[in-house]
Amino acid sequence: LPSKLPQGKTSIFSVMSTLARENDAIDLSQGFPNFETDARLKELVYKAMKDGHNQYPPMNGIPELREQISAKIEDLYGVKYKVDTEITLTSGATQALYCAITAFIHPGDEVIVFKPAYDSYEPAIKSNGGKPVLVQLKGKDFSIDWQEVKDKINASTKMVIINTPHNPTGTVMSKEDMQQLEGLLKNTNIILLSDEVYEHIIFDNIEHQSASRFPGLAERAIVCSSFGKTFHNTGWKMGYCVAPEELMKEIWKIHELTVFCVNHPMQRAFAEYLKDPENYLSLGSFYQQKRDKFLKLMKGTKFTAIPSSGTYYQLFDFSEITDEKDTNFANRLTREHKVASIPVSEFNIDKKDNKQLRFCFAKTDETLEKAAEILNRI
Ligand code: PMP
Ligand code: GLN
Repeated sequence: LPSKLPQGKTSIFSVMSTLARENDAIDLSQGFPNFETDARLKELVYKAMKDGHNQYPPMNGIPELREQISAKIEDLYGVKYKVDTEITLTSGATQALYCAITAFIHPGDEVIVFKPAYDSYEPAIKSNGGKPVLVQLKGKDFSIDWQEVKDKINASTKMVIINTPHNPTGTVMSKEDMQQLEGLLKNTNIILLSDEVYEHIIFDNIEHQSASRFPGLAERAIVCSSFGKTFHNTGWKMGYCVAPEELMKEIWKIHELTVFCVNHPMQRAFAEYLKDPENYLSLGSFYQQKRDKFLKLMKGTKFTAIPSSGTYYQLFDFSEITDEKDTNFANRLTREHKVASIPVSEFNIDKKDNKQLRFCFAKTDETLEKAAEILNRI
């Protein structure tokens, strides 16, 4: 049968996690914690089930949870999203991203995507007949060349996708970056899709620059977030997006078609859990400690760390160890040394010279110690 995504393939996350399982390797590849979500949160889900919240909730989510999300965003980013029309609960950020792209991308529309990029954007654009226009992040600090972005914007540009904190590099967009973008999009009809799933996993007292904070961006932005990343339960597949009413109306049409609504008891639980901001505000320092521990453990190795300011990923350059392609090395590292990682070329345009692996440090200290012990011997 003719494929809708002829170049599509199984995601590198599935490939590496399967390889890790098959080889009984320590899995630092796919991004998920190997420790438990808060027992209280699980109790709250169970309580909601016992209390009878087991049928379809409203299409866009229960009002109690939308109210909590609205209050959280107002508190953190100083902008008020309307509870009834501008917030939608989704099946993870993945579904929010897919709905946003599908709602607005028509055949021939161009979408600016920064590379390396998370792997779901381009297939979603292409499956809607759109054309990803790729902009490679520059230099050791993966900075954005705004002149290049400006040069690539034209009458066909429908959307720009940003991701901050950024998977896989761990870089974060600065206030100046956001202002540059705001300037470029001013007086255009371009939509901004802002993937902020790691909004709370940010280090060294850096402030997260949500697109919501910038009026010239917020007026055209769909901002996506993930409870899975924030509350250590990626398998629950819960997330949300916020957007101005006229954009959200279009997203709803796709949301209704794809899932209609998402898990009811979990929404009840999150509505309760979000009442204590400590539950998400403590996340930055929690993961900063993990990053620092992992960096310390890796200090004696031949892997060179590339600074990470956010997310739960750490890139390492391995050119001191081997000339192999990163995909080969990641494969061999999993099979022969029993540590799984993600080869960064999988996210890039230029796959030739990449000598970087991504390690996920959302793991128990014991797992990080075991992995580093092995990597120290290479
Ligand atoms: N965006 C980025 C940048 C991610 O790393 C991920 C992976 N969790 C997602 C979106 C998808 O999030 P979710 O698991 O909530 O669907
Ligand atoms: N976001 C996770 C990562 O980057 C993976 C999620 C997925 O498997 N799609 O590793």
